[in-house]
Amino acid sequence: MSADELEQLLLVQEHDTARDRLRHRRASLPERAELDAQHARRRALAAQAAEVRARRDAVLADERRLDDEARTLGTHAEEMNTRLYSGTINSPRELQAMQADIEMLQRRRSELEDRELEVMESREELDTELAGLETGVGEADAAIERLGGAVAGAEAEIDAELAVEDSTWNELAAKIPSTLLADYQRRRAQNKGAGAARLVGTSCTACHLSIPSTEAEQIRRAAGSEVAYCDNCGAILVP
Ligand SMILES: [Zn+2]
Repeated sequence: MSADELEQLLLVQEHDTARDRLRHRRASLPERAELDAQHARRRALAAQAAEVRARRDAVLADERRLDDEARTLGTHAEEMNTRLYSGTINSPRELQAMQADIEMLQRRRSELEDRELEVMESREELDTELAGLETGVGEADAAIERLGGAVAGAEAEIDAELAVEDSTWNELAAKIPSTLLADYQRRRAQNKGAGAARLVGTSCTACHLSIPSTEAEQIRRAAGSEVAYCDNCGAILVP
């Protein structure tokens, strides 16, 4: 092992740190959290809208049924009225009975129309509620589209930076003996970040803890001819 190779390893570590930072930034984009929140908002609003729409449709069907019934009664009453004044019926008793039937039909029609009005009012309230929910869904859709674009844009930017970091990393790593690189990568994985660190005085720049001064002295004397490790975090120490 040589001091140069260990210096090279520190550069690899620098670029690994940069890549970790970029990956972390990519995974924790604030726009993505906002996007998830908008998706959840849209789901809740759409479910609410579906429930209100079903209620509105039921009330509307009721309204139409009452309207049909009122019309039918109205038509029936008109027909009887026409017959009443057609002059074809002469019996006063029959005329009186018809008159009573017509009045009864008109009364029932008027009752149906009153109910239809009440039903219409509650249908209109549901229409208003539904329109509000649909507006909310539309707003969420617009936010989702905008945030989706922002996330894609931020990801593309980070990916471009990562591609540069990756190629630099590959160039640097190619100059390092494969056993040393594998050792570094194993330690980096265990340490969740640092596989190699500069030894400054007696302290490791990865974990910021100290090693015994005799050990630090020995590492400095060896000057990279052998690989030394931090007692605390296990990183490869570079004098
Ligand atoms: Zn350490």
